[in-house]
Amino acid sequence: MDEEPERAKRWEGGYERTWEVLKEDESGSLKATVEELLFQSKRKRVVESHGQVRLGMMRHLFVVIDCSRSMEDQDLKPNRLTSTLKLMEAFVDEYFDQNPISQVGIITTKNKRAEKLTELTGNPKKHIAALKKTVDTACAGEPSLFNSLNLAIQTLKHMPGHTSREILIILSSLTTCDPANIYELIKTLKSLKMRVSVIGLSAEVRVCTVLTRETGGSYHVILDESHFKELLMLHVKPPPASSSSECSLIRMGFPQHTVASLTDQDANVTLNPVTRTTSLSLGGYYCPQCHAKYTELPVECKVCGLTLVSAPHLARSFHHLFPLEPFIEIPVEEIQVNRFCQACQGELKDKSAFSCTSCHSVVCVECDLFIHDSLHCCPCCIHSQSVP
Ligand SMILES: [Zn+2]
Ligand SMILES: [Zn+2]
Ligand SMILES: [Zn+2]
Repeated sequence: MDEEPERAKRWEGGYERTWEVLKEDESGSLKATVEELLFQSKRKRVVESHGQVRLGMMRHLFVVIDCSRSMEDQDLKPNRLTSTLKLMEAFVDEYFDQNPISQVGIITTKNKRAEKLTELTGNPKKHIAALKKTVDTACAGEPSLFNSLNLAIQTLKHMPGHTSREILIILSSLTTCDPANIYELIKTLKSLKMRVSVIGLSAEVRVCTVLTRETGGSYHVILDESHFKELLMLHVKPPPASSSSECSLIRMGFPQHTVASLTDQDANVTLNPVTRTTSLSLGGYYCPQCHAKYTELPVECKVCGLTLVSAPHLARSFHHLFPLEPFIEIPVEEIQVNRFCQACQGELKDKSAFSCTSCHSVVCVECDLFIHDSLHCCPCCIHSQSVP
């Protein structure tokens, strides 16, 4: 395991010698080149989305947040912990938006211990409430990579083999306090096909390099807050499924929301899967197999084990499998007539515009991002289809 392949550090790649790229314009301003750099980085996300590969659509992800003393550092404003928790809230929202049939759990580690902040669940509200509460906790002692990973393994190992099992560690400390040999644990992770990724807030740590390399995850160290956000958002997209992961057909139920009348004998108690409490309400979703009643979807039926989802949930996961082709970049000067974006009707002010590969409509960079990040279909193609 000591053989380290010679390679450039990942975070050096894209940012190396940016100062050499900067050039002053006639008035001595750097604005033009800085805008150019920002423009390039925006586009990268669209181009990088992978084509047709098998993806792990049902994901089980544990996020480990370091809450050790080093999280009090103020290089991120107001400090590392507050900044991380704020970004995590955005991450949870985005994750469930893009992966509606997946689950997340959060683990915190400090004082050589690891603790579950939230269990693995598909309810974003619960995670966000827990994250909001964590802002007030005191950062103390050292983190423990071993204990955090071990805690995540205990839950993840029970997840079915056709789902993707992932751990994402946000590590601020440069040290870890482990009760046993972590290299043995890395072997276990590898054999259980769990992918571990790390986002470092300080500097590269060797054990993390080995950990991520052996388990097939990614390892990045942040440069600043916006880079941190970018790295976190990379984990929103489902990872390619490993070729060895099981394939299986999954039974799913699509219950409809029904409101029972007061006299109806079906107006029974609703089980709230999140709080595990029962409440009396007339509306709910009935499991088509065993008629258990739930307040929210998606959920795994506690009685018969059937996965219950709504059709829009599945549809939203679908676009990952057939991503929209990246649009082709064309210089605006080449456009002779109509220098307007065909999506937002705004004037094309940047020096490049983007053309759809099938309908050849031209859109501005903002619309290009919106189409690829949120819409996942070309509005101009759909418009031309609906008009005969
Ligand atoms: Zn059921
Ligand atoms: Zn536009
Ligand atoms: Zn199109």
